[in-house]
Amino acid sequence: MVLGNSRALWPRFLAWLAADRARLELDHPLNDYVASKVNSALAIAQAAEGFKTLAIDFDHTEPVVDLVGAAVAAGLLWRAPTGLGIHPVFGPWVALRARVVFDAPPPNDGQPAPPCRACDTRCRPALSRLKALSSEAELRQRAAEFIALRVACPLGSEHRYDDDQTQYHYTKDRRLLRSTVERMRIQTP
Ligand code: SF4
Repeated sequence: MVLGNSRALWPRFLAWLAADRARLELDHPLNDYVASKVNSALAIAQAAEGFKTLAIDFDHTEPVVDLVGAAVAAGLLWRAPTGLGIHPVFGPWVALRARVVFDAPPPNDGQPAPPCRACDTRCRPALSRLKALSSEAELRQRAAEFIALRVACPLGSEHRYDDDQTQYHYTKDRRLLRSTVERMRIQTP
């Protein structure tokens, strides 16, 4: 099973932070949030269904797993000309978080129809402007170029992340979380 999030994650994550502001001081609050939610969901599912979880690989743990490749193999996403994983409903507005291996047979759902049809003139120009990255720090500096790849795609545009979520996914800048949670506190006396 491959797990990811849409923009639905963001308000829940902010509420989790606001419930205990010490979480804003964690090195990687979103990683901790995802791990806690995935682990508790798996514990509930295991108790209800009786299967065992053999392995969990998160997007933030080493060694790095090709989650897009796993999601394509699982029939969750389609690989776009840009290399992004494209969901039939959410388009590029998904973030993959974990791969879970169970001691159970996979469902036989078949592969989804490719969502990338004859529209690659939309995303290829953004791709052609992109130079290779040399480090994760560079990804943070050049986030706008990678965000442009997603914005170019018309599929799932109604599921686009808001600006704060988009920026945080690329920059992991905790100052953005602090200011957003502070705004929530002011708006909810
Ligand atoms: S613009 Fe078209 S080809 Fe490119 S990722 Fe989106 S759906 Fe696929």
